[in-house]
Amino acid sequence: MGHIRKLAGEIGVRVQGTNGEFLGSRYIARKFRVMGYEVDIQKFTADGQTSRNVIAYKPDGMSDRFVIGAHMDSVRGSPGANDNASGVAVMLEVARLIANNHRAKFIKFVAFGSEEYGGNGVHHVGSATYVARRTDRSRRRIPGMISVDMVADGRPLLVGTAGIGPDVVAKTLFRKIKATGIDVAYRTLCDCSDNGPFERAGIPGAFMWSGLEPNYHDPSDTVANLSRRDVRRSGRALLAFVRALKRDMITRFRQY
Ligand SMILES: [Zn+2]
Repeated sequence: MGHIRKLAGEIGVRVQGTNGEFLGSRYIARKFRVMGYEVDIQKFTADGQTSRNVIAYKPDGMSDRFVIGAHMDSVRGSPGANDNASGVAVMLEVARLIANNHRAKFIKFVAFGSEEYGGNGVHHVGSATYVARRTDRSRRRIPGMISVDMVADGRPLLVGTAGIGPDVVAKTLFRKIKATGIDVAYRTLCDCSDNGPFERAGIPGAFMWSGLEPNYHDPSDTVANLSRRDVRRSGRALLAFVRALKRDMITRFRQY
């Protein structure tokens, strides 16, 4: 909740390429560094402005790692508490909980910039940049990706692909969440989050979401309208997958 209060409460609106998004990225990078992660800032142009991805990883780990991502930008006029300070907070807290675990070396945590549509009608620019800047070999070897996006609005979790790439990661994520007793449904979802560009590159992607809600892309997407209980629920859900991640699972994901 502290991360959400900072991002959506103090910093507020974080439109791509604006100072709000920059301040969000700086906060997230600082948190990852305090946990002992290396941080790379990947800059790119979105709708004529400089935007960035914050990429955190433990040194000396596996190359071409599993990606856990959450976008940090919001739309104009919306503080983006559920969309998507909630996903960033869940990602940061899972990163903290596994910081000293060997599984941290299988993963890159990425806070994506410019997920939302720019004035030019283009979306998912941060995640598309992340995928495009890999070599062909590296793209083939990325085992999978989970986008955590809008996960604390009082609704049950939904897990699925965008209907484009292999479903092995989404199915596995669904099973691991289900096994914890958390209410979750498997569905093929929209191409409306950062798993889209990964799936288009043939990488098994998953979208962890709780669906559209009344405060979506509205000034009312505030900390006060967030479900604190669901932040915890979504954190437990992602942690269940991360704690189950093993080298042979990664090998299996790479075969798709
Ligand atoms: Zn979003």
